[in-house]
Amino acid sequence: MSIQTSLPGVDALRTACTGAVLLPHDPPYSGACAGWNLAWTQRPGIAVAASTVDDVVHAVRFAETHGLAVSVQNTGHGVTIPADDETLLILTRGLDGVAIDVESQQATLGGGTTWTPVLEAAQRYGLAPLLGSAPHVGTVGFSLGGGFGWLARKYGLAVDAVRSLTVVVAGGRLVTTSPSAEPDLFWALCGTAGSGLGVVVEMTVDLVPVDMVYAGNLFYPVEDAEQVFDRYVDWSEGCPEELTSAFNITAFPPLEIVPEPLRGKTFVLVRGCFAGTEEAGPSEGRRLVDRWRAWRRPLMDTWASIPFSRAAEISMDPVDPLPAASSGRWLDRLDRGVFEAMRDAVVAGGAASPVLFAETRHAGGAISRRRPEVSFAAREGGRMLELVGLITSPESDTELARRFSETWRRVDSRLAALPGYLNFVEGHEKIQIARQAFDAGTAKRLRAVKDRYDPQDVFRRGIPLGGPPLA
Ligand SMILES: Cc1cc2nc3c(=O)[nH]c(=O)nc-3n(C[C@H](O)[C@H](O)[C@H](O)COP(=O)(O)OP(=O)(O)OC[C@H]3O[C@@H](n4cnc5c(N)ncnc54)[C@H](O)[C@@H]3O)c2cc1C
Repeated sequence: MSIQTSLPGVDALRTACTGAVLLPHDPPYSGACAGWNLAWTQRPGIAVAASTVDDVVHAVRFAETHGLAVSVQNTGHGVTIPADDETLLILTRGLDGVAIDVESQQATLGGGTTWTPVLEAAQRYGLAPLLGSAPHVGTVGFSLGGGFGWLARKYGLAVDAVRSLTVVVAGGRLVTTSPSAEPDLFWALCGTAGSGLGVVVEMTVDLVPVDMVYAGNLFYPVEDAEQVFDRYVDWSEGCPEELTSAFNITAFPPLEIVPEPLRGKTFVLVRGCFAGTEEAGPSEGRRLVDRWRAWRRPLMDTWASIPFSRAAEISMDPVDPLPAASSGRWLDRLDRGVFEAMRDAVVAGGAASPVLFAETRHAGGAISRRRPEVSFAAREGGRMLELVGLITSPESDTELARRFSETWRRVDSRLAALPGYLNFVEGHEKIQIARQAFDAGTAKRLRAVKDRYDPQDVFRRGIPLGGPPLA
């Protein structure tokens, strides 16, 4: 159904909603629908920039009445299926409240919050949320897809910290779900990366007592990459759960947004975050990193005791919108073959590679502890491998896709039977990965929840939970 034929309904929706209701010809439409990742364009038939929960309820009911799919966007860091003219896109950025309960060490967040204000508010009380490498990523999309951050080995994934979700499901029904209230819905939402079952308008998460950490990067010359990798494998294996670390090869692009000493140069990085108790705190982290300093003096060394509020400095992710692509998988082990595939993705082949970095994060620890209340299942992979690239032209897009698939082909035997990781993939790859992300029993239970809460498949722009078997 074309949205242009239902304008009377649009007027009524405009009257009902506090936030803006936007059609493609409205001047603010393009800016409002633009997400962080400029590689994707959302072109919904209609967009609702929700500023209240009622706006979301009205939007969902409108979409159902007019046979439109409902899709959700907060920051646009992790687009699944881009919205088209058969879609009503709910923009959640206006739902941005943050309330910290110091007593229970929990935060209640609006469904459109990013981690930035949560981190800031929690740190005032010596508390921290389980955010990822970039605080400007959305809290809900990140958490429901897993949420692997710099405190993960000690405190687990963000999905393990979710306590309750308030969700607008099909029919515009508002449901508060938790492990004890409509637990099947909670279970299904926590692990399926959002938007396939409803719009989360509020989320309550546990905070952890983290104030100061020992964190940063050691920069070594790319010529030393092989030796740094070998050493990193042994070093990280022997480190306690307080340390979440990564080995990274980055070709910093020759762009002005990159600080001068890094611009246009390639380094290998040993990065991470040590979150200890007060007794065995930053000084133990320093001792672990000192082993590197004693081995070989790095070109640059940013590891230091810092307040966790500065966590963004660990990964130095770009904040401003970019045309980017990422791809990530769990690995069961690291070996030279993984290293060679990472190195070749970033630096091999003569001309500059569109792959900006290849990073392998150390998993295990609290990540591997099962939480039966959530459907998130990827617990066994001891390592994560992520590739990120910039798309600057159609040729670079093709070359990026080629290098991504070549890397996965080369590390295939280390992927074993591990499920995929939804947060580090986008678009059609996310749909493909979703088909392997759940075992047969989990996939069957997800379909049952989908049939119960969204039998008409209103939320059909998320990963497919109904229809043909996922597993
Ligand atoms: C720079 C950068 C750094 C990153 N770092 C990490 C990291 O360290 N660890 C990690 O695990 N991941 C990381 N990611 C991946 C990130 O977690 C995913 O891209 C995530 O999906 C982003 O969520 P979002 O809400 O910001 O993005 P969006 O594109 O707005 O949303 C992503 C998905 O979540 C759904 N969604 C969002 N909000 C809601 C809601 N309120 N209700 C229902 N569905 C919703 C959307 O519909 C969409 O399907 C990073 C991504 C980038 C670009």
